[in-house]
Amino acid sequence: MILLNPGPVNVSDRVRNALMGPDICHRESECSELLGNIRRKLLGAFVPGAESDYTAILLTGSGTAAVEASIMSCLPPGKRLIHVNNGVYGERISSIIATQRLGIAEIKYKWDTPPDPETILRSLKQQPSAHGVIMVHHETTLGLVNPVPEVAELVDSRGGVFIVDSVSGLGGEPLDIAGRHMYMVAGTAGKCIQGFPGVSFVLVRKGFMENVVKYPKRSWYLNLGNYYMAQENGTIPFTPAVQVYAAFDEALSELLEEGVTNRIQRYGRMAALIRERMATLGVRTVLPPEHQSNSLTAFYLPEGLTYAVLHDRLKERGYVIYAGQGHLESEIFRVANMGALQETHVEGFLGAFEEVLKHEYRVT
Ligand SMILES: *Cc1c(COP(=O)(O)O)cnc(C)c1O
Repeated sequence: MILLNPGPVNVSDRVRNALMGPDICHRESECSELLGNIRRKLLGAFVPGAESDYTAILLTGSGTAAVEASIMSCLPPGKRLIHVNNGVYGERISSIIATQRLGIAEIKYKWDTPPDPETILRSLKQQPSAHGVIMVHHETTLGLVNPVPEVAELVDSRGGVFIVDSVSGLGGEPLDIAGRHMYMVAGTAGKCIQGFPGVSFVLVRKGFMENVVKYPKRSWYLNLGNYYMAQENGTIPFTPAVQVYAAFDEALSELLEEGVTNRIQRYGRMAALIRERMATLGVRTVLPPEHQSNSLTAFYLPEGLTYAVLHDRLKERGYVIYAGQGHLESEIFRVANMGALQETHVEGFLGAFEEVLKHEYRVT
């Protein structure tokens, strides 16, 4: 089955086979070595040249665990976050923040609208108890790339901390983490890094991490300070999903061999193939080209065709697409091109899509 949903993704045989390694105990040196390798490869991939300024903290859990751990760990007493919300994942951040009342201002936009950096700057100036800003990098809701570098720059200029949910961004979109002084960037194994779901991570600026370990604990299990201190000692506080970590390690080797820039370009080519063919079929994108990501496209459903029918006919042919969310659920469908996909897979999908259209409309 070819997965055209935004994670879990199709993985290579090499990554799948890494699940079949030896049984190892997480308190043994083999596991320390594995954790060390993953942490080192993450830094090599995402903060090249600034590896010594960052640390990678590994968590067993889906991407949301990394986002929630970042939120629960990033604030000194009495300080709060400005949070930007322009999609389902921005909304999730707002919900996490609400559980502990850690927000000071929500800056909300419609799903097709990128946040305006000037508004964020104004909010920072107006809120003296704001410690920083949290924002999604790639809003997976519609496949929209938010202006992360611009926002990072001005948060940095105000001395604030900038936290990024790049769970669906890392490996699919360029992100200059070190150059722009991003303080925490949350990611996951199971999207554009092409591993399995079950491991997530946060890349943290080291100088900031030294402060974070002293902040009050707002969560016991998702406290990044605990994970950091254990991992610096070559261990981990809780039982990790060892086999999934082994596969993640392999996926990172594969990413480094392909090259992050080449990975991003491959995704861009796949997305372009999909968009070009859909355009010839008269299927319209929800977002204008300038906001679209490399890894996901939201399309309006062709008239008279429901998502359920389109989904089921494509699945019969071996392809899984993804539904829209919220108020767009009955109007759109999404096609992600994350994972170990090549042009032949995408061509196969487009052929199947065309076949379904012809069949459903009985046109020739
Ligand atoms: C997938 C995703 C997450 C996390 O989702 P999980 O199901 O917990 O892995 C968070 N943020 C964004 C932008 C995502 O695309």
